[in-house]
Amino acid sequence: MLSAPFSLILLIIADNNSTFVDVYRDYLIIPQIARIYSLITGIFPFSVAEILIWFVGAGSIVIIIYFIISIIKKKEKKKFLFNTLFNMLTVGAVLFSIFILFCGIYYNRRGISEYIGYEEVEEISAEELYEVCVELANQVNELSYANEDMDFSKIAEETRRAYDNLGKKYSVFSDVYGKPKGVIFSEVMSYTGIAGVFSPFTMEANVNTAQTSYNIPFDACHEMAHMYGFMREDEANFIAYLACMESDNDYFKYSGAMLAFILCHNELFEVDLDLWEKADELISYSVNEDLIENSEYWDSLEETEFGETISDISENINDTYLKANGQEEGVVSYTRMVKLMVAKYRYEKNQKSALQ
Ligand SMILES: [Zn+2]
Repeated sequence: MLSAPFSLILLIIADNNSTFVDVYRDYLIIPQIARIYSLITGIFPFSVAEILIWFVGAGSIVIIIYFIISIIKKKEKKKFLFNTLFNMLTVGAVLFSIFILFCGIYYNRRGISEYIGYEEVEEISAEELYEVCVELANQVNELSYANEDMDFSKIAEETRRAYDNLGKKYSVFSDVYGKPKGVIFSEVMSYTGIAGVFSPFTMEANVNTAQTSYNIPFDACHEMAHMYGFMREDEANFIAYLACMESDNDYFKYSGAMLAFILCHNELFEVDLDLWEKADELISYSVNEDLIENSEYWDSLEETEFGETISDISENINDTYLKANGQEEGVVSYTRMVKLMVAKYRYEKNQKSALQ
């Protein structure tokens, strides 16, 4: 119970105080406990979080029935109610503390660009974003032969290797965490439009394995980014791209380049339709087939009654969705993913010209 005020105080100190968050992450024992915890839950090949959800779901029905019977039978009703309330508050306080200490605090962390040495990008022209899309389109076309159905246990292994490589380049990723987990009821996840979930309560990166195969390595790397204390979705997407490209496996590289292309290409749509079309034409036939397969997968779920509740997560990364829903052109505030992709593009361009 006392852990709740402690974590609340930490959260108040960390609010807008990225230096404190760095000290917390680098010098306090709690992040190391979280890491060891992830290695312990990582021993299990299945998602411990998923199993717990099913147990809690089934268990809560039993508890409610027990509670109703007890309240009818018990003589000291007030004492029983007080004890029940106290127990519920204790469980709530523990869960709240785990959430804050293992993940919530990192919402105040510095952006990834500061850890990897990229300059922040403010202004982006449509032409520059187009250049980034061209580079990514070339990458996906070259790698498209690699798209295959890879067993999730191999994907989990390769995700760790990709982060090992990334850690050699950037020390902020040098720690080893538990491997990502494939969710058993991935189909159910698809109906809610969720590609993956990071569970701080079990320190696990849970991935939807039912979706179109090219998404899976990227999503495994995305959820792992949260494990490394980068909580913002856009930043996790960018880190996932970096990790995929550091992999020695072309299937991972294809996945990373593909999602980066889709996310950048979608934003190009909003600033320059002509350039967007030009970039669209660069995509090879086989890559386009994969994009269509992905759209058809999500559409087929939406067509069912249950699927109507599908969230917009899949739509965010779905190129065809944008094509069908012609959004107005106009000034957009770029997502952090795009800003970071442009920052990387500029950084590499500078490196090349410095070498010449
Ligand atoms: Zn995420």
